[in-house]
Amino acid sequence: MALPHEPEFQQAYNELVSALEDSTLFTEKPEYKKVIPVVSVPERIIQFRVAWENDNGDVEVNNGYRVQFNSALGPFKGGLRFHPSVNLSILKFLGFEQIFKNALTGLSMGGGKGGCDFNPKGRTDSEIRRFCVAFMRQLARYIGSDTDVPAGDIGVGSREVGYMFGAYKQMQNNWSGILTGKGLSWGGSLIRPEATGYGVVYFVEKMIEKATGGKESFKGKRVAISGSGNVAQYAALKVIELGSTVVSLSDSKGCIISQTGITPDQIKAIAAAKIHFKTLEEITKESASLFSGSNEVQYIAGVRPWTHCGQVDVALPSATQNEVSGEEAKALVEAGCKYVAEGSNMGSTKEAIDVFEANRSKAVWYAPGKAANCGGVAVSGLEMAQNSQRVTWAAEEVDEKLKNIMYTCFDNCYATAAKYSAEKDAENLPSLLKGANITGFIKVADAMFDQGEVF
Ligand code: GLU
Repeated sequence: MALPHEPEFQQAYNELVSALEDSTLFTEKPEYKKVIPVVSVPERIIQFRVAWENDNGDVEVNNGYRVQFNSALGPFKGGLRFHPSVNLSILKFLGFEQIFKNALTGLSMGGGKGGCDFNPKGRTDSEIRRFCVAFMRQLARYIGSDTDVPAGDIGVGSREVGYMFGAYKQMQNNWSGILTGKGLSWGGSLIRPEATGYGVVYFVEKMIEKATGGKESFKGKRVAISGSGNVAQYAALKVIELGSTVVSLSDSKGCIISQTGITPDQIKAIAAAKIHFKTLEEITKESASLFSGSNEVQYIAGVRPWTHCGQVDVALPSATQNEVSGEEAKALVEAGCKYVAEGSNMGSTKEAIDVFEANRSKAVWYAPGKAANCGGVAVSGLEMAQNSQRVTWAAEEVDEKLKNIMYTCFDNCYATAAKYSAEKDAENLPSLLKGANITGFIKVADAMFDQGEVF
């Protein structure tokens, strides 16, 4: 059971359990209750010291972790996060979410998460490389293509995956698909970088289609996005391609707002500068000509976009956990927002979810991260499949598979929500919060019964 000193994990646990309890699932199948105390304890947690050499020749020490949460559906699978806030509560929440998210992809992957309280911001490339080698020196013995396959998350992109892959291969004398998000020339999958952002947009396409009976699409919609990393960048590019206006992006220091729409060139400039840890404030100042004139953006320091973006139809929180408060959720609803889908994991606070769910009767529709952002790990699953077969699929083929996975995920969440909704809910749009949690849970729970882990 979660301990009170793990607030993020407790929050993720409460979200799942209250979604299950607030449905007819346990009345119809009471045996599922037995799964909760088992599934909420990780199969294994590995914690290790990462001692590495900085550019001054000094030793620095960080705490490394891998939470191998659940392997009922396949090898443990989930990203690595390098961020100073990383601790066991954060990694247990992320690992717990990952179990049910991976189940929702329909692919054969268990759930896990790992990372380190190392802060990559302001570090040189050499320091990042030495850190990654030191981190993998410990992690290498616990992972494997049929055991546990990490990938990226906040602070871990293709550069870090490359350094860790190289370190693993040197240490183990073994070239296999032990990480996903690899470079395209050495085992990576086309569309993996785009997958989380594109996937969120494909999921919301279905929400809009269903809610409007096919009358509306992304065309002409105003979309508020937070974050400016991998997920936010590709979500923004895809919604622009589909005819929407992106009114915001953000980072940990502030946000940019554009009433006419952030342009693909601006997004590409942000992507290039973010690899070097530049802030949006620095980027908009340093590339002033790109961010002025008819494409002017307003930079607002110290705030998230939600209360500054004006009228919007769609909000895609794509930065980090708990990035939408109850007050901000109210502001979004008042600004006309009808669709909220999380590119980030647990992007909404409990208070924000309560606001969105309470407004379902007014056609506000909320999709939790475990459903809306499963496209990233789904294409990781496709990368594993390509590695096993030693083949490379074309971009169009991967994109088509990703679309199908997101559409099927939406259909499953929708159908499950409708099936297990309590009577009082019947006249509203079905709760995707419940649909996602119940669908993911049933799949994992059934596998655990079959494998004798619950009886
Ligand atoms: N970190 C991503 C997530 O939260 C991707 C994990 C993966 O590709 O294994 O789902």
